[in-house]
Amino acid sequence: MSRALVLNATYEPLGVVSNRRALILVLNDRASVVENTSEILHFANGEIALPAVIRLNKFVRIPYRHAVPLSRRAIFARDGGRCVYCAAPATSIDHVIPRSRGGAHAWENVVSACHRCNHMKADKPLKELGWRLRQLPREPVGSAWRVLGATRAEEAWIPYLEPFGVATATA
Ligand SMILES: [Zn+2]
Repeated sequence: MSRALVLNATYEPLGVVSNRRALILVLNDRASVVENTSEILHFANGEIALPAVIRLNKFVRIPYRHAVPLSRRAIFARDGGRCVYCAAPATSIDHVIPRSRGGAHAWENVVSACHRCNHMKADKPLKELGWRLRQLPREPVGSAWRVLGATRAEEAWIPYLEPFGVATATA
């Protein structure tokens, strides 16, 4: 039992539902299957594959633009799962300007970091350490982030998220 990615009629990612819910949308002609999972639902008169990706048959207008929720998962995804200081695999979240020095808990001030850098940096400012960020942290843009900010992407979704702003949909 897993989840399905819901795309708008324009293929823009909208959100995530259970794949039973996705199947009901398909059976009610509200949506079409784009990709199936390998999970088969058996019922009295036969069987049917549970969808991995569905697309709404009618375009729905969505209010723009939602801020992307700031979560550990989304920060890791934005930073490619790597430490912004040394490129090692990230294991923690770091506030560039430490919170103890007034740094905000905001997209522009949180980055993914490895344990070693986070520990060495502690509450020192970058200048004092002579460190530089590999890239400036920003709020990610693109509607795929609405999906990714809230949940972990399934493998089958990635090709449908990539055109909408997610380069590395992992971590
Ligand atoms: Zn590091």
